[in-house]
Order: sequence, then structure tokens, then C-alpha cells
Amino acid sequence: MKKALVLGVTGQDGSYLAKFLLSKGYEVYGSHRRTSHKLFERLEELDILYKFDLVKLDLMDDISINRAMKKIQPDEVYNLAAQSFVGVSFDQPLLTSNVTGLGALRIFEAVKEYCPDAKVYHASSSEMFGNSDEIKNENSRLFPVSPYGIAKVYAHKTAQYYRDAYNIFISCGILFNHESPLRGLEFVTRKITYNIARIKAGTKKNFALGNIKAKRDWGFAGDYVQAMWLMLQQNRPSDYVIATGESHSVEEFLEDSFNYAGLGDWRKYVETENKFCMRPSDIDNLVGDNSKSKKELGWKHSIKYNELIRMMVDHDCKAFGVN
Ligand code: NDP
Ligand code: GDP
Repeated sequence: MKKALVLGVTGQDGSYLAKFLLSKGYEVYGSHRRTSHKLFERLEELDILYKFDLVKLDLMDDISINRAMKKIQPDEVYNLAAQSFVGVSFDQPLLTSNVTGLGALRIFEAVKEYCPDAKVYHASSSEMFGNSDEIKNENSRLFPVSPYGIAKVYAHKTAQYYRDAYNIFISCGILFNHESPLRGLEFVTRKITYNIARIKAGTKKNFALGNIKAKRDWGFAGDYVQAMWLMLQQNRPSDYVIATGESHSVEEFLEDSFNYAGLGDWRKYVETENKFCMRPSDIDNLVGDNSKSKKELGWKHSIKYNELIRMMVDHDCKAFGVN
């Protein structure tokens, strides 16, 4: 039985990945850190809490990282832990650099010292590319425009360095935005579907957004975690773009989800360009070229944009007891 350590198991991807690995027969270990609020709701929702071992670990605490690597001796490590929200990275750039950037270095160093034969997946991000018109592939220029993107570039380059210098198997997934009913409430897609449900339930009248002209390549997280696993089943480590290949604007997402929910014109409920939701810098458009992952991993996405909207709206409406 293979052992997998999922760092960031309480997050969106961590919970889907843990479920997927359990279904493959893995002995799964998942890292979490102490908080004062409800922590395991995603794991509860997927009905996998208590089906694997929970390990206390913080990316800023080398002792907890080293201890986990030494003790577990994982065959596969999935580094999904991060301060993952671009919006917060403008307000907390140092924390973001420490967790999302240096945290990855701490992981790679611990693997090198304590379990150098482990295969490592590292969560890189399309946010590393910044603004340019091209469809992004594994060789596209990295020109980040947020502290989060900069921290991810640092981690990405460090991953490549540890792969080359120390011969450690580290594959980087350059994942484009992926969403689900388990997406954090602060991300724009879930913010929209969650507020739609509240409006329908009568507990909210309206809400505010920032830049709705921005376009993203949105896929389904459940599909994307399978690509992570596939990367570690290859003979050689590499970098892979994981994306659907099409992008939609936030405005389209609004229009399509409000229409699907039967609420009609979103303009009656949503204020845009709200100053608290605007970012000092933003990426206009992100679209990924997934040909390498299709060819080498045999990966493809199963859930398309419209289906994703239906899934998220249905989930949130159900939670509020509305159709
Ligand atoms: P989430 O924010 O849902 O999950 C992040 C996880 O990291 C949570 O388990 C969180 O724990 C944990 N974490 C945060 N800070 C620390 C810390 N200091 N020490 C240990 N763990 C910590 O993100 P996603 O699941 O959506 O994303 C997974 C990874 O993929 C992240 O690295 C993200 O940056 C990257 N990514 C995500 C994309 C997306 O569209 N979802 C796109 C591209 C990359 P807690 O619950 O305690 O906060
Ligand atoms: P990101 O691509 O990782 O930053 O994912 P987000 O879901 O946070 O943001 C996607 C896009 O939606 C960005 O261009 C944001 O500027 C834009 N956006 C517009 N309004 C909002 C908002 O209220 N919240 C968030 N999170 N994003 C918004």
C-alpha cells in the first residue's frame, strides 16, 4: 500500500485529492493546522473525515514539517498548502511570501533530508504568468502581478532547482483556476453562487464585486486533482499546465449563474467595481494550453463551464433549502 502525504488536506483540492487517493487504496496522511473555527467541513461533506490520519503541520514551522517527513516516510507528497487567495496577498504580502514561497522551500528541503525517494507534487499556479495575450503553456514567460504570483514563482523555480540539483522527483502542476461546491467563499465563482442562494432564500438582498471584465479559465477541482496524481505516476518529473483551454469573464459567470438560478438580470442585485473588491493589479485574461498534459498524462477535463455553474448553484441553493 502506497503512503501519500497531502499538505493542505482541509482545503478544496486537498479534500478532493484525499478522497481520490483513498479510492485508489492509498494510506493517506493529511496535514492541518489549528484554527479557532470549523476546520473539517469539506472532509465531512465528502464523508472522508476519520478515514485517514491527520497530521498537525504548519508551513512556517520547520519542526512540524521535518517531523512529518521523518515519521511518515511518504511515497508521494502533495504540496497543496498555501495562502492561496490572491486578494489577501496584497494586504499580507510578507505572510504570503513566507507561507506560499518559503513554505515550499521548507517542504523540498525536508524531503531532501528525510525522504529523498518520495515523489513530490507541487502546486504552481497560472497566476505566475501575469498579463499577456498568449495562451499559456509550460514555457510561457512568468511575469506575476501579485505578491501571491511572485511567491508562486519563487516556489516554482525552487522546485525546478531541487529537481535538477538534487535529483528529487518534483513535478509542478501549473493549474488554472478550478472551482467546485467546496471552493472558498472568498473566490469570485463561489462568492457569486453562494450569494445567489442567499438572495433566493431571502437572507441577502445584494452584494458587491470588483473587476467583472477579468476572464479566467475555470475548470472543476475534482478533475484537476486527478492530474496531480497522474503527474506522480510518470517515470520522470516535469511541469504540466492543467486547464480547460477556454476562458469566460466574471460578467459572463454572473449572467449565466443568475439565469440558471432563475433570478434574471444580475444587475438588480450586484454592485460592480466596488472599491473594496478591486485589486491594485489584476490579470485581464488567463487561458491555458493543455496539450502536454493531454498527450503525456492522458488527462482531460470532464466538467465544462456550464456544468460547473449548475453544480455550484445547485449545491448552494440546496444548502439554503431553495430550488
Ligand atoms: P485552499 O485555500 O482551499 O487550501 C489551502 C490549504 O493550505 C488549506 O488546507 C489551508 O489550511 C492550508 N494552509 C494555509 N496556510 C497554511 C500554513 N501556514 N501551513 C499549513 N497549511 C496551510 O486552496 P486550494 O485547495 O484551492 O488550492 C490548493 C493549492 O493549489 C494551493 O497551493 C493554491 O495556491 C494552488 N492553486 C489553486 C488554484 C485554484 O484555482 N484553486 C489555481 C492554481 C493553484 P487552512 O484550512 O487551515 O487554512
Ligand atoms: P484568482 O484568479 O485566483 O484571483 O481567483 P478569484 O476568484 O479570487 O478572482 C478571479 C477574478 O475575479 C479576478 O480577476 C478578480 O479581480 C475578479 N473579481 C471581481 N470581483 C471579485 C470579488 O469580489 N472577489 C474575488 N475574489 N474576485 C473578484
